Amino acid sequence: MKRIAILGSTGSIGTQALNVIRRHQDRFAVEVLCAGSNADLLIRQALEFEPNAVAIADESKYTLVSEALQPHGIKVFAGEASIADLMEMTSIDFVLAAIVGFAGLRPTFRAIEHGHPIALANKETMVVAGSIVTAAALRHRVPILPVDSEHSAIFQCLIGENGIDKILLTASGGPFRGMTREQLATVTLEQALKHPNWSMGRKVTIDSASLMNKGLEVIEAKWLFGVEATDIEVLVHPQSVVHSMVQFCDGSIKAQLGIPTMETPIQLAFSFPERVESHLPRLDFAQYPNLTFEKPDRQTFRCLDLAYQAIARGGNMPCVMNAANEVAVRQFIDGKIGFLGIADHVEAAMQSAHFIANPTLDDLFQTDKTIRESLTFKH
Ligand code: NDP
Repeated sequence: MKRIAILGSTGSIGTQALNVIRRHQDRFAVEVLCAGSNADLLIRQALEFEPNAVAIADESKYTLVSEALQPHGIKVFAGEASIADLMEMTSIDFVLAAIVGFAGLRPTFRAIEHGHPIALANKETMVVAGSIVTAAALRHRVPILPVDSEHSAIFQCLIGENGIDKILLTASGGPFRGMTREQLATVTLEQALKHPNWSMGRKVTIDSASLMNKGLEVIEAKWLFGVEATDIEVLVHPQSVVHSMVQFCDGSIKAQLGIPTMETPIQLAFSFPERVESHLPRLDFAQYPNLTFEKPDRQTFRCLDLAYQAIARGGNMPCVMNAANEVAVRQFIDGKIGFLGIADHVEAAMQSAHFIANPTLDDLFQTDKTIRESLTFKH
């Protein structure tokens, strides 16, 4: 039995992970559940899955959660620091890192330091601190299994292989594919949240619409698979059936395909190296007579280029870019800036930030804080 800690259990990835566990109770159990502020859902999840402990980042929800769960023998903690502290529990066999954004870095890092294998959904952890996180994983002999569907696909293509020529990272193109900058200037939040193929949390959905998500994924792939960002080519594939591909030095290409659902890569990360049965519908090729591929429009969707620039510069620049993007996405959601303002904010932050070539983890926390404060004060 694998006892799993879920960081971000109340989110889109977290709830789908619990679907997987519910269907495979002979293999997986829940040891810890952690959430941001959704106390009601956290309580319901804990009553169903009976973890050893839960933690909620929002300290004002402590009484509500503890009154509901402590009578059932479930330990309850509150505050972001307690989430990271729980990662020291030796009864944890495996951690799903599915908190959204920079907030996922500290608990994920702590889990690695305590030797827990990681299923990584929280791509921002790799974007911000890829070199530090991968070095820690090597030091502690901790496997990091990708959950992002593209990275799960690449991971599967690479099994038993060597001689990578390049990675072909597919992108749906999001709801605004084919639009001009003039059209993007007036798109609404509601339109941005209507992803054509995937149902995800708000932040990653907006990132998908701006192509920042693909930029984050290029950086994530660089660190997960040890390839240069220049050897990662983004291909827009609107059907989201080919989850990604790898081209090898002899010109052969391997692809991984499936229906667009996150439950498959979550389940594989949990069960690896085994594959286990899934009830999910199978891909019916007859329903996809046209699988198409095109180059992304990097002039219109500038966030992708900004991500390539950030990783080329290295140091704390991906952290700067990520922090600026998180603030800008929040401001777009709050109606304070337009959609094109996201790339403008990110670019401005990258131009003015203090550059650190070899940052420590503390430097990255400071960089994140400084960028957030500087952008928040502007509005
Ligand atoms: P959601 O917004 O749906 O969920 C985010 C989760 O993080 C929630 O459980 C939320 O808790 C929790 N959370 C937020 N802030 C904090 C905090 N400060 N401390 C502790 N917990 C916090 O996001 P997704 O599930 O969509 O995405 C999660 C991660 O997975 C992201 O990094 C995303 O890029 C990545 N990912 C997502 C995919 C998807 O299909 N959704 C696909 C591939 C990757 P609460 O709701 O209680 O506030």
